[in-house]
Amino acid sequence: MQTVRHIEDIRIAADTIGEAGIEKNVKIPVESFSAAMANPEIQPIEALSIHYIVTRDNDTIHATVDVRGRLTTQCADCLAPLEYPLDLHFETDYLPAAPDMPEDLEAERQSPTIGYYRKNVELGAYIISETMLALPLRYLCRSDCKGLCSQCGANLNEGPCGCGKPSDPRMEKLAELKNKLRRK
Ligand SMILES: [Zn+2]
Ligand SMILES: [Zn+2]
Repeated sequence: MQTVRHIEDIRIAADTIGEAGIEKNVKIPVESFSAAMANPEIQPIEALSIHYIVTRDNDTIHATVDVRGRLTTQCADCLAPLEYPLDLHFETDYLPAAPDMPEDLEAERQSPTIGYYRKNVELGAYIISETMLALPLRYLCRSDCKGLCSQCGANLNEGPCGCGKPSDPRMEKLAELKNKLRRK
C-alpha cells in the first residue's frame, strides 16, 4: 500500500498504461483528505483508501475507482455526533483532449463518465470532485430524527421535553379575548 500525500497528485502517465492495465491501492493521510474536502463540518477519522484500475482500449482510457473512509460530523437536526461511512465506486472514460482545450482538463469534463487526458490522466482531481458530489448536504443521525425543542433545546429523541404540552382550550379563548381588548 502506497501513501500519497495529496489526492490531486494521483495522476497516471497515459503512455505507461499497457495491455494489462494498472491496478493500485493508495492511502491518503487524514490531514490531506480533510484539506481536499474543504468542509469544516466533516472530519475524516481515518486515512482514505483508494483502489483504482486503469485500462486502455486504443485511445480510450477507462478508470474504475473505489473510495473508502470514515467521516465524523453532527446531525443537522439534533446536533448529536455521528459517523458517516464512505464507500463509493466511480467509473469514467478518458478521451484524448482536443488541442484547443485549456490546461485544466478536469473542468472540461462532459459528464461524470467522460473526461479528457493529454500526457497524464488526472485521476486525483476526478476523485475529489466525485467524492464531494457523493456527500449528502445534510447529515441526519436517523431518518426520523425529532431534533431539538425550539423552546428549551432538549433532544426530543430522548423523549418529550414537557414545554410543548397542548394548551387548555379555555385559556386560548381567554388569550384571544385579551388580545381583542388590547387592540381596541
Ligand atoms: Zn439527530
Ligand atoms: Zn422544550
